[in-house]
Amino acid sequence: MKGDDLLKYPNNDSDWSEEHWKNFIEYLIEDKFFTYKQLASGILGQLNPPQVGTGTTEIVKHHYPPRKAWQNVKNWFYSQSGRCEDCGTRLDLQTDHVIPRQELGVEADRLDNFLLRCRRCNVVRRPSHKNGGVLNLTSSSALMWILLTRRPKTYPAFEKLCRDYGMKMASIRFQEAWALAIWLEKEGEYEIDK
Ligand SMILES: [Zn+2]
Repeated sequence: MKGDDLLKYPNNDSDWSEEHWKNFIEYLIEDKFFTYKQLASGILGQLNPPQVGTGTTEIVKHHYPPRKAWQNVKNWFYSQSGRCEDCGTRLDLQTDHVIPRQELGVEADRLDNFLLRCRRCNVVRRPSHKNGGVLNLTSSSALMWILLTRRPKTYPAFEKLCRDYGMKMASIRFQEAWALAIWLEKEGEYEIDK
C-alpha cells in the first residue's frame, strides 16, 4: 500500500474499521516509520499498570498509619478490573478521582474515591479541557493521523484540517507537528508545495 491509498479511506478516523487501522499500521511499518518491535515496545509500555506504589500512595498516605498506605493502595489496586472505567481499554491507565478534589478537598484523596481511567478519558473529564471529549483520538495521535493519512501539502492546509477535526489548542502544537512533514520531505517521503 502507498500513502496515497490512505486518502481513499474515510475522512473521519471514527469511521475507520479495524481493517483500515491494520492496513495503516502495515503501511507505516513498510515505509519504515517504525518496526514491529518498536510498535510492540510502545504498546507494552502503555500496558504496564500505573505507578500507584509511589504516586497514589503518596497522595493517600495521610489517611493511614505510618507505612500502611502501600498495603492499602495495593489491596485497592488488585481489586480493580484493570480497564478504563469509561472506554474499557487496558492501555495508558491512570488513577482518577470519582468525585474531584475541587469538590471534596483533601477528603477526595481516599482510595474509595479513586478509579482507573486511561489518559485520554482522564483528560476529557478535566474542566480545563472542555474540548477533550470532541476528539476521537488523543490530540497528539490525531495530529499524526491527519498528517500521515490526509497528507496536506502546506502548513496552512494542515492547520485547517486540525481545526476542522475539532482541535482548539494553540497553533504552536500544529507547527511542532508539522516538523514531521519537513523531516519526511528531506528523505523524499512527503510532498510539500513551495
Ligand atoms: Zn478510556
